Amino acid sequence: MKRIVLVGGGHAHLLVLRQIARCKPPDVEVTLLSPSRWQYYSGMLPGWIAGTYRREECRIDLQALSASANACFLEDGACEIHAEDRTVGTTTGRLLQYDFLSLDIGSETACDSLQPLGAPLLPVKSPDFHHRWEEFIKLCRMTPAFSAAVVGAGAAGVELALAVHTGLLKVRPDVRVTLICGPDGPLDQLGASAQSIAAKFLRHAGIEIVYQRVVGTAEGVRMPDGRSIAAHCVLAATGARAPAWLGHSRLGLDVDGFVAVDDCHRSRTHPNVFAAGDVCSRDSGAIQKSGVQSVRLGPVLAHNLLAAAQGTPLRAYKPRRRSLYLLSGANGSAIACWGTWCSSGRWAWRLKDQIDRRFIRQFPRLPDTIAIPSASI
Ligand SMILES: Cc1cc2nc3c(=O)[nH]c(=O)nc-3n(C[C@H](O)[C@H](O)[C@H](O)COP(=O)(O)OP(=O)(O)OC[C@H]3O[C@@H](n4cnc5c(N)ncnc54)[C@H](O)[C@@H]3O)c2cc1C
Repeated sequence: MKRIVLVGGGHAHLLVLRQIARCKPPDVEVTLLSPSRWQYYSGMLPGWIAGTYRREECRIDLQALSASANACFLEDGACEIHAEDRTVGTTTGRLLQYDFLSLDIGSETACDSLQPLGAPLLPVKSPDFHHRWEEFIKLCRMTPAFSAAVVGAGAAGVELALAVHTGLLKVRPDVRVTLICGPDGPLDQLGASAQSIAAKFLRHAGIEIVYQRVVGTAEGVRMPDGRSIAAHCVLAATGARAPAWLGHSRLGLDVDGFVAVDDCHRSRTHPNVFAAGDVCSRDSGAIQKSGVQSVRLGPVLAHNLLAAAQGTPLRAYKPRRRSLYLLSGANGSAIACWGTWCSSGRWAWRLKDQIDRRFIRQFPRLPDTIAIPSASI
């Protein structure tokens, strides 16, 4: 019996578990480690903020998914890996032994320059994001002229700003939302057409765009010219950073601390360790940090984990050069980007909504009231 430990319920692991549920492989014992039973789907986060979706509609039940795959689900987070001893330590003090380990734990928000801000700062990759956003909504209800700033204007930042604006307007009419991007403006990675469509959406919503880099202050953010923007809430969508604890794992990491993998997504230093999604890095830089890439990798990762356990050949994952990105406008339309082509409209929102709902629907769920049995490990 080979022990496979999956750390994190990221996109690729969802598909690994779905595949294991389908083929019920003999001679493997699978454990999923995740700090929460619920895996929130980031594609629907802006829709939840804007009030389009209920919280229950945007999440996947990892306990039910594990049960369908005969896997053991542990509601616990990893905090250390001893790659030489083949063990994972958890935040509640467990020590799990593995034959094969797979990491799909996502990334953290790189927002050090905003840290002095303290309580009003809400990094988009926070584990308690949903709870904290609900707290800001309560604050907004009680605060005249509530103001929010979103820092970072890549795809996630633009979607967030539009969603935050729509969500807050439902609470009170006198809110102000500012999107802070670098000098190159919103969506600078996606080309001129995407930039001009995004600017049109933002202007139409009444969101102010600031083309400067900022640092956090006690009251909000400050620009290089000394001017400040006061904000009751500052959301950071400022890019990905690797979890610091991986630095002690002895796994080979890239210069930014992400797990270095080969084209089969196997660690370059430890052949019994795999990594997928935002937490991994390929030599060529060939793989973008996005949910779409992590989803596409899932079936190949499932194959490779089982093949490694059975001693059969692994498969390489060839990332696609382009993906379709659909950004919610939080107004019944969306922006669609494919390479440098970009368009927008209600059709794009309908397509995004369909794709996202279909993604969630493919996973099983248990009634919310079923408690997690105490783990036997
Ligand atoms: C607002 C927003 C919208 C986005 N929309 C899109 C989109 O439409 N399309 C797209 O392609 N990308 C989108 N992205 C990017 C996308 O969210 C990430 O690239 C994607 O989530 C990465 O997936 P992943 O598989 O690496 O892991 P994640 O989906 O980040 O999941 C990681 C899981 O691991 C768990 N975990 C973390 N640490 C530990 C630990 N120590 N132990 C155990 N478990 C742990 C977490 O709780 C989480 O459940 C969006 C991002 C944001 C912020």
